[in-house]
Amino acid sequence: MPLVDFKHVLTYARERKLGVAAFNPVDYNSTQAIIDIADELDAPVICQTSAKTVRYYGAASIYSWMQQLCKKTSVPVSLHLDHGKDLDMIESCIKSGWTNVMIDASDLPFEQNLARSKQVYEMAAAHNVSIEAEIGEIHGVEEDIVVESGGSVVDPDKAEIFCKEMDLGVFAPAIGTAHGIYHGEPKIAWDVLEQLSERINTPFALHGGTGLEDDVIQRCISLGCSKVNISTQLKHAFISGFYEHHRENPDDYEPLSHLKAQDQAMREVVRYKMEQFGAAGHGQAILKAMNTQ
Ligand SMILES: [Zn+2]
Repeated sequence: MPLVDFKHVLTYARERKLGVAAFNPVDYNSTQAIIDIADELDAPVICQTSAKTVRYYGAASIYSWMQQLCKKTSVPVSLHLDHGKDLDMIESCIKSGWTNVMIDASDLPFEQNLARSKQVYEMAAAHNVSIEAEIGEIHGVEEDIVVESGGSVVDPDKAEIFCKEMDLGVFAPAIGTAHGIYHGEPKIAWDVLEQLSERINTPFALHGGTGLEDDVIQRCISLGCSKVNISTQLKHAFISGFYEHHRENPDDYEPLSHLKAQDQAMREVVRYKMEQFGAAGHGQAILKAMNTQ
């Protein structure tokens, strides 16, 4: 089935307090693992590409995998650009068939961030593509973006203005989570997330989902974080699945047996997260809801 704009999916999820998993595939096999498990679990899913991945393969190649893999599926699959900063790349993804893009102008002062995000919002809306935008800075390293610890937590007043100015597909507020692996206990600003949840209906994106305990993620989902990003954990499965196979079978130089082990490691992570986040079993219902709108 064709790719689906995540706006409909996340609105459905927010209303029912479900979390939709968003994974960052890095090649054809990881994309296939994500989509296969989504189909098996009747779960909506977001495949989000980092800017680095888009630069590595080119937008056209990635889009062609997605199209091919989605021919067999019967669940809503979205193709999203994660942490888009370069307007040319954002435009290229929109024109190549991405259903969603993120504009990350969170390093700019609020007014400039709003202006840049609105510019992308309008560009995307002309192609029926909805967007994700962020305010406050999320700690850690994502791509080549480094935010030292001490990155800011979102101001709920500003967040409300931001979400009123644009009909975002999803809003990414910095609430104290971090990209990558946590060093020490993550300090989620629960009071801020609770305020956002009461004041804003737009679904929220939870960045830095790797390393958060299941109950922390569940609480975030119940407070409106309908999109849960898992990037680092899939990368770890990708590398260690391959590496561990070779460590255990040092004489094996058959690439396909390594790829199989890597694939299994990734599928395990994808399945676990989808089952945890609660949207598994809702794929068909979402499509039905979209068709009756
Ligand atoms: Zn992120």
